[in-house]
Amino acid sequence: MQQYDLIVVGGGIAGLGLAWAAAKEGQAVAVFDTNPRAEGASIRNFGMIWPIGQPAGPNRATALRSRQLWLELGQAAGFPVQQCGSLHLAHQEDEWAVLEEFANLPSAEGLDLQLVRSEEIKRLTPAANHDSLVGGLYSRTELRVTPSVAIRAITTYLATSCGVQFHFASPVVNVVPGEVTTARGKVVAGQRIVIATGAYFQYLFPQIHREEQLRVCKLQMMITEPQPSDWKLGPHLAGGLTLRHYPSFADCPTLPAYCQRITRQLPELDRFGIHVMASQAECGGLILGDSHEYGDDIEIRDKAEIEQLILQELRKIISVPNWNIARRWQGFYAKHPSQTSLVREVAPDVLVVNGFGGNGMTLALAVTESVQHHWEKATQGESLYGSH
Ligand SMILES: Cc1cc2nc3c(=O)[nH]c(=O)nc-3n(C[C@H](O)[C@H](O)[C@H](O)COP(=O)(O)OP(=O)(O)OC[C@H]3O[C@@H](n4cnc5c(N)ncnc54)[C@H](O)[C@@H]3O)c2cc1C
Repeated sequence: MQQYDLIVVGGGIAGLGLAWAAAKEGQAVAVFDTNPRAEGASIRNFGMIWPIGQPAGPNRATALRSRQLWLELGQAAGFPVQQCGSLHLAHQEDEWAVLEEFANLPSAEGLDLQLVRSEEIKRLTPAANHDSLVGGLYSRTELRVTPSVAIRAITTYLATSCGVQFHFASPVVNVVPGEVTTARGKVVAGQRIVIATGAYFQYLFPQIHREEQLRVCKLQMMITEPQPSDWKLGPHLAGGLTLRHYPSFADCPTLPAYCQRITRQLPELDRFGIHVMASQAECGGLILGDSHEYGDDIEIRDKAEIEQLILQELRKIISVPNWNIARRWQGFYAKHPSQTSLVREVAPDVLVVNGFGGNGMTLALAVTESVQHHWEKATQGESLYGSH
């Protein structure tokens, strides 16, 4: 029986990041995924590499390292990584106040930020709605990938140029140190095993995931028909509501007052965890979202109310040539209650890498790189990941 150096369970961005990091060290790697191709959160997202959402310190540094890795990987695997930047639009004075505070915080360090007004915003994007526009915060740091294109290109690159063996349509049903078993009863040996199963974490080491209080979150998403070919969104766009969503803005003194106003005036946005963002996919369509429903609140059927609220809030901040929705989909991710990722040794040389929440495209490549580095350095028997 062939023995791999590393077996990865899950072919999303976390699994692929691990496979890439190990393959670069010359290791023999196999990746198993339940589906005939990756179909998890990693192909259902906005494709925003979003350092501006990460608080200053280790998380921001991780996001910036991931950014570098995306540029490297895009070049190696031959998929577009656009250095599009991001633009937060303020249509209310209290949103503008938060943006100004953020731009002037010492913690804005490491981001290339500029407060912009109407004329500059017109140069950056044709989409901003200028009725009652107060200003915006432009950041040059954010990147754009089209998730389905990127994930497929990375998979092909790892298989054809790095010797990684992919086993699709192969759910792993059991993991013990040194081997995994697939649903068809095939046993495969690996010196190290990483479980990166995203929102489907309940099936392997369920007690560990319960202890960590990982929760599933459901998001409703949509994409418009392609916009006219000469119309380009420019940077990713976000509205003031997004300031409530990412922890990087938490240090802004007037943020609590802004959040309270939204809760008072638009409680339904809090109920469904709605904030609004837009990103342009390779096909020219605009990816629009999103909402957040957790745990027992999740229903299989999408709510028309959520879609209407998202579009209503988007129409307040942007005007686009074509609002026709071409497709709708749901995304699910695993969220940790207090950490931006979960890396835990659950048995000797068996790691769970999960819990990226809404930040996996932004963080996973650097987190998985550091897992590989730590693992390389680990002496036998030494636990680096806080096994319980
Ligand atoms: C709608 C939406 C929008 C988002 N937007 C962004 C964004 O713009 N920027 C950002 O940074 N992050 C974003 N995120 C978050 C990001 O997409 C996730 O954090 C990230 O994709 C998680 O990657 P993952 O590899 O952990 O999980 P996944 O991509 O879900 O991959 C897990 C894989 O494991 C496989 N699997 C599960 N169980 C088994 C098993 N037993 N055996 C074999 N295979 C198994 C699944 O089939 C799946 O392919 C968004 C998420 C969603 C849902």
